[in-house]
Amino acid sequence: MYLQVVLATGLRQEFTYLPTQAIPSVGLRVRVSFGRSERVGLIVGINQTTDLDIKKLKPIIELLDDTPLLPKKLWQLGLWAAEYYQYPVGDALMHLLPAKLRQAKPNDLIQLNWRIMDVDPKFGRAKKQQALWQQLQTLAPEFNLSQLQSIGIKPSQLKPFMNQQWLTSIQPKPQAVLLNLAQEGLTLNAEQAAIVEHLAKTDKVFNCHLLNGVTGSGKTEVYFQAIAHQLNSGNRVLLLVPEIGLTPQLLERLEQRFNNRVLALHSGLTEHQRLNAWQQSGLGQADIIIGTRSALFTPIPHLGLIIIDEEHDQAYKQQEGFRYHGRDLAIKRAADANIPILLGSATPSLESLANVKRGRFSQWLLTSRAGQASAQRYEVVDLRNQPQQAGISQQLQEMIQIQLDLGHQILLMLNRRGFAPSLQCQSCGQTAQCPACDANMTLHRRPPRLHCHHCEHQQSVYLHCPGCYSHQLKPLGQGTERTEEQLNVLFPNTPVHRIDRDTTRNKGSLQAMLKEVQRGDPCLLVGTQMLAKGHHFPNVTLAAILDADASLFSSDFRGPEKLAQLLVQTAGRAGRDKIPGTAVIQTYQAGHPTINILVNQGYNAFAQQELANRQQSGLPPLGHMALFHAQAKDAASAFALLQWLGQQVQDPSLQNLTKSLLMFGPMPAFMARRAHFYRAQLQLQHPNRKHLQQLLQHLCGLLDQHPAARKIRWSLDIDPQELG
Ligand code: ADP
Ligand code: ZN
Ligand code: ZN
Repeated sequence: MYLQVVLATGLRQEFTYLPTQAIPSVGLRVRVSFGRSERVGLIVGINQTTDLDIKKLKPIIELLDDTPLLPKKLWQLGLWAAEYYQYPVGDALMHLLPAKLRQAKPNDLIQLNWRIMDVDPKFGRAKKQQALWQQLQTLAPEFNLSQLQSIGIKPSQLKPFMNQQWLTSIQPKPQAVLLNLAQEGLTLNAEQAAIVEHLAKTDKVFNCHLLNGVTGSGKTEVYFQAIAHQLNSGNRVLLLVPEIGLTPQLLERLEQRFNNRVLALHSGLTEHQRLNAWQQSGLGQADIIIGTRSALFTPIPHLGLIIIDEEHDQAYKQQEGFRYHGRDLAIKRAADANIPILLGSATPSLESLANVKRGRFSQWLLTSRAGQASAQRYEVVDLRNQPQQAGISQQLQEMIQIQLDLGHQILLMLNRRGFAPSLQCQSCGQTAQCPACDANMTLHRRPPRLHCHHCEHQQSVYLHCPGCYSHQLKPLGQGTERTEEQLNVLFPNTPVHRIDRDTTRNKGSLQAMLKEVQRGDPCLLVGTQMLAKGHHFPNVTLAAILDADASLFSSDFRGPEKLAQLLVQTAGRAGRDKIPGTAVIQTYQAGHPTINILVNQGYNAFAQQELANRQQSGLPPLGHMALFHAQAKDAASAFALLQWLGQQVQDPSLQNLTKSLLMFGPMPAFMARRAHFYRAQLQLQHPNRKHLQQLLQHLCGLLDQHPAARKIRWSLDIDPQELG
């Protein structure tokens, strides 16, 4: 018997090992020696014969599991994703496991349940032990981890009792799902009811539903009632969100509505907690699993529905390593499980809208705001003929004052943190450059520093220009810190809250600020796109985009789409309750077609027009794209590798795959140097997905063989969301 094993080594290759006494099967982890180190691997196949020299084969060191950790369907999803994203199988499958299980250690699964044995222990002078034991009796006869933690005891404290066999660990029994509402749902309007009823009628069949509902239209209520239906039928639900930390409200609302077991998987968990949650979910100890991108790989028995909130959000795409798209893999998971999936957004991705057009997704529109709220009004402020202070036009200042006098709240979005995007010398014009990147360093005031947002390089603020020694240095442009400072001057009697990555770094600080805003007292909120993310502030009546132009002329073909999403989402924070709201867009390009169509006809009209533009140039989602990246300490070798790759593409024997291919590059990435590395890219565009896939597979094979590719970091991004 020969074991085919994959390892997370970045190698697109299976390795052959000999078995030990234990009976192996596909899906089990093994500890093996690899080169001079030990690695954890996964058995992907068992063969009866081999072409290899048997004398050179090594036995595995240890079989780490008794049963496969990944349920079959997730294992297959991992294999599928590895192939689709041309990512080494070993790395892809390992990625599906919690980090703790990627280490070559057996028994690292956490004890979840214990039973107290029928014993009468004598403690003698071990008073502490005795007290602990008595405390445990309150949980008798069986208890689980969360019960244990609720009385303030750590599992490690149980060790002595386990050793004495006064306690044994037991496998928790999966508990049936029962709907347990803490709060009744709202009465749905006709549009909401249509989708909820349809989902109730068509559960247990794969179908992809796009819930395209304007901001404040009650998408969350639709999710909750769809969840309630599933729980009522004994099924579990997976709810994916872009970032839980940014929208603590959703989790709060979920817990207010349901008395069911809600499991939250987010980036704040320790590896230990993550493993624990993963295991609990796999054992059916949770009913609703809410999590970010990677939560899509959580084992969930009796999964009945997947929901993806804010499906357009960039956060669903992993931007490094295993560059998968969470939305797309979640759809695949739903298809494999034959269950419905619901994608919700007020600004759906063009990918999803194209799928609606092709008839692959069903679309459900929520055209108006729920309850007593009405749509916000737009006001475009032309900055050209306006006096302004702190990047805030006279007109906007007056509008702010009126709302403050009425006791309302105002939200101002500026998508640049720090004090100013750069520091400029007034004598020679030079700006403060990051030593490691082709980029300006951002000036920060609290604490004072120059900070590169691309590589995190930080240094103290120059006292004089490094070029000409002039002391005339001036902050250039506007960041949220600076706006905050100036708002305090303009509106001295109103509290200003700044919400960006700098003010929310500490755990709980965002939550505290959101709570404060929710109390409803008049205030000014200034912040980055974090403010645009799904928040529900009933008393915000004015939402302003301070600088719409910053992303109007992006060189990325997705620029207009991203801008439209940011504008509409920010605007959507205004007037979500009874008082109507206004959204202000400040721009020097008041007549710009993107702004015009958004303001006058709305996001869907914009999206249809943008889809037509993409069609003309064969861009995604109408064509398919892949991007090879290469980076090296010198520009020439990164370039040379991609040049060579480009030549391979021209090989006449590949003609049937490359007939309709468009190839651009190699060219420097938008930021040609980042963190000391020179970066080049080669962009491929193809109308036929299958042909592109075959070509890419061939090219990856060639790269694996190419000696230079071992020294140069290269990667392949399939369906890239960002160019460069
Ligand atoms: P979205 O997720 O679409 O942005 P929310 O779910 O946050 O919208 O809903 C906005 C507000 O409308 C919330 O206060 C919610 O309680 C309320 N709401 C939703 N559906 C209804 C309904 N059917 N009747 C009354 N109020 C509703
Ligand atoms: Zn100078
Ligand atoms: Zn840098």
